Amino acid sequence: MKRITSIFASLALGAALFTGAAQAQEKGLIGIAMPTKSSARWISDGNSMVEQFKAAGYETDLQYAEDDIPNQLAQIENMITKGVNVLVIAAIDGTTLSNALENAAASDIKVIAYDRLIRDSEHVDYYATFDNFQVGVQQATSLVNGLKERFPDQKPWNVELFGGSPDDNNAYFFYDGAMSVLQPMIDSGEIAIPSGQMGMDKVGTLRWDGAVAQSRMDNLLSGFYTDKEVNGVLSPYDGLSIGILSSLKGVGYGSGDLKMPIVTGQDAEIPSVKSILAGEQYSTIFKDTRELARVTVGMVDALLQGGEPEINDTKTYDNGVKVVPSYLLKPVLVDKSNWEEVLIGSGYYTKDQIQ
Ligand code: BGC
Repeated sequence: MKRITSIFASLALGAALFTGAAQAQEKGLIGIAMPTKSSARWISDGNSMVEQFKAAGYETDLQYAEDDIPNQLAQIENMITKGVNVLVIAAIDGTTLSNALENAAASDIKVIAYDRLIRDSEHVDYYATFDNFQVGVQQATSLVNGLKERFPDQKPWNVELFGGSPDDNNAYFFYDGAMSVLQPMIDSGEIAIPSGQMGMDKVGTLRWDGAVAQSRMDNLLSGFYTDKEVNGVLSPYDGLSIGILSSLKGVGYGSGDLKMPIVTGQDAEIPSVKSILAGEQYSTIFKDTRELARVTVGMVDALLQGGEPEINDTKTYDNGVKVVPSYLLKPVLVDKSNWEEVLIGSGYYTKDQIQ
C-alpha cells in the first residue's frame, strides 16, 4: 500500500513538474540584453530579472556584451532568431539599435528599454528606469553640501565636472539635473570651474570608462591646479569616481594639508561604499535594481497576458521618434550618514560585504 501511495505521489509530482514546465513554456521566453559585467550593478540587474521572470513563469536568455556594440547587436539578432516573445534591452549605445528593432517588430517582438532609453526607433514599447534628472540633482546637491561642510571658508569652490557616456541618453539627464543646481552657483561666482570645461561635449566619458576619467583628472590637475586646489568633482558613476579618486590620491589629496575633494558617484557599488566609509568618496546614488527588475517583469507580464503595463510618465522620454511611456523609480542619495539604513536595511548588501 505504502509503495502504491508513493508511486502515486511521484506520479503527482511528475505531473506537477510537467505542468510547471509547460506553463513556463506557455508564458514565454524573454531575451535580456545587458551592457557589461564590468560594473556590478548590471550583474545585479540581470540576476534579479532572471529570478523574478522565473518566479512569474517565464524562461530567460540573459546576455552581456562587454560594452562591445557589434557584440550586443549580434546577441539581440540571435534572440530574435530564437523567437523570444519580448526583448528587454539595456543598450550600450542607445542610437545603434534601429535596424535590430525593425527586425524585432517584423517578428512581432515587443521591446522594453531597460534603464537606458533606446533612441531613434518607433519600436520601443516601454521604458523602465529611474528618475534620471533627479539623480543629477541629488549628485549636485550632495556635492554642494559636502563643499559647505569640508571647505566652509573657501570662496569660490574649485570644482571640475565629469559626464557619462555621450552615447547613453541617461548621461545628459544626469548632467542637466546636476547643472540645474550648479549653474546658478557658477553664475553667482560661488563655484569656479578652473579648467573652463563644461558641457557634455567636453566632459563626457566614453563607455563610462574609469581609466578615461582617471587620465582626464590627471590632465586637469597638471593643467589647471599647479597653483590652486580642487575642492569638488562632479562624478556621475562610481566606476569613474574610483578612477578620479586614484588620480587625486596620486598627487597627495587626502593626506597632509591637502583635503580630499568632494567626489560624488552613482550605483552604490561595493568599492565605492567602502571608499565612502574610508572618508574618500563622499556620496553615491542607490538605484535598487531589484525594484527595476520588478517593474520590468510587471511590464512584460502585462504585455504578454493582455494587461496594461504600469507607467507613471508619458512626457519626459522622447527618443527622437516618439515619447516612450515610462515608469520612473526614485533614486536615493547615500553617504556616510545613511548607508547602513539604506543599503543594509533594505537587504541589498549584507554588512559583511561592506565591512
Ligand atoms: C545607468 C547608471 C550607470 C551608468 C554606467 C547608466 O545608464 O543609469 O546607473 O552608472 O549607466 O553603467
